[in-house]
Amino acid sequence: MSLEENIRKAKEAIAAAAREVGRDPAEITLVAATKTQSDDTVRAAIAAGITVCGENRVQEMTAHLDADAYAGAGLHFIGHLQTNKVRQVVGRVDLIESVSSEHLLLAIEKEAAKLNLVQDVLLEVNIGGEETKSGVLPDQVETLFFRSLELPHVRLRGLMAIPPVAGADGNRAFFHEMYEIFVDIKQKMTDNKTDIDCLSMGMSGDYENAVREGATLVRLGTALFGPRPPMPRTM
Ligand SMILES: *Cc1c(COP(=O)(O)O)cnc(C)c1O
Repeated sequence: MSLEENIRKAKEAIAAAAREVGRDPAEITLVAATKTQSDDTVRAAIAAGITVCGENRVQEMTAHLDADAYAGAGLHFIGHLQTNKVRQVVGRVDLIESVSSEHLLLAIEKEAAKLNLVQDVLLEVNIGGEETKSGVLPDQVETLFFRSLELPHVRLRGLMAIPPVAGADGNRAFFHEMYEIFVDIKQKMTDNKTDIDCLSMGMSGDYENAVREGATLVRLGTALFGPRPPMPRTM
C-alpha cells in the first residue's frame, strides 16, 4: 500500500476507535514517527496529510531540519534525550514528549531560559515499571508536575508512555492506567499556568486501544511507512 493509503487508513481507524467510545476524532492527533525515513519520505508524508512529525534522534532531526523537510508540519521530539543534546532540541521543536527525569526537565528549563522562550514538554511515564525503559514511575508524576510550576521556561502539558510491547490487547490495561494518572493530575493541577491536554500513547500495534482509552496523540511509524531497517544502537 502507498503512504497516502496508509495515512488515510490510520486516520480512519483512529476516528472509528474514537467514535466507538463517544470521543470526537478531532481530539486525536496522528504523529508520524519518522525515524530512519528520508527527507523526501518526510515531505511526502506531510503532503499526504501528516500534520506532526515525531523524531527520535537528535542527529536525524537536525539533518531533516537543515533540509527543511518538516516544512508545513509540527515537530515533536519523542526519543531518549541526553542532557548534553538538550541544546540541539530546545526551541527547535513544538513539544518534547520524552522528558524522563527531573534532571532532564531542569536542563530543558536552563536552556529555554537562555533562549528566552517557553518549551512545551510531556513527562514520560514508565508505566510498565520496566528496568530497561526510561521514564518516571507513576508515583513520581505529581511531584514533577508541582516542580514544573517553579520553572518559568517549561510548560508541562501532559504525559507520554511506551508500555511493554504486548499482543493486540496486551497494553490496554496500561493505557487505562495512564488515562487515570492523566485525569488525576489534571484535577490536582487546576491552578496550573497551562492546560494539561496531551496524553501521548499508542504505536502501530496498539493505537486503536490507546484511542479507546483516551490518547490525544498517537505515534505511528511502521503502520504508515512499512517496516524499518534495523537501527544502529548509537544515539
Ligand atoms: C518508533 C517509535 C514509535 C512508532 O513505532 P511503530 O511501532 O513503528 O509505530 C512511536 N513512539 C516512539 C517513541 C518511537 O520511538
